[in-house]
Amino acid sequence: MKYCSQCASIIERRIPEGDNRERDICSVCNTIFYSNPRIVAGTLPVYQGKILLCKRAIEPRLGYWTLPGGFMENDEGTEQAALRETWEEAHAEVTITSLFSMISVTHISQVHVFFLADLPRPEFASGPESLQVELFAPADIPWQSLAFATVEQTLRRYLDNPNPPQPHIFNISRNQLSSE
Ligand SMILES: [Zn+2]
Repeated sequence: MKYCSQCASIIERRIPEGDNRERDICSVCNTIFYSNPRIVAGTLPVYQGKILLCKRAIEPRLGYWTLPGGFMENDEGTEQAALRETWEEAHAEVTITSLFSMISVTHISQVHVFFLADLPRPEFASGPESLQVELFAPADIPWQSLAFATVEQTLRRYLDNPNPPQPHIFNISRNQLSSE
């Protein structure tokens, strides 16, 4: 950020009074522009033991498989965001059953939240951000072609135990696959 969105003056980096880290601050009107983590919300949709994955039609990770999910919009809740993304990317109408994973991806300042979801009927189609949408039996998950480490971790933990007593809450400091 170079110019203030309030008064168009130059932005400088300094520690505000009473704070302990550098922020973007307007040199004239002193508005502080905080930068904080962004939330990605998605679902792990299951139909008769098979998992719905989307092949990405957009960068990053074009051509790799992912669970449906994306950045939350302002004024919506996490579940609403996850359902909206599932509809946009997979044209699938699912019912959320529980929070499954909440992963802080520290090096890119994101939090990825995945909900377990029931896909009542095998009805889905590629949205504009997907090349292909398919149901995968656990043995057929394309581990070598998954888009993100958060998706891989969520799938591995789900297959280990589809009904954990608590959601999985953890951090990772990369978002590439561990197999790469
Ligand atoms: Zn300003």
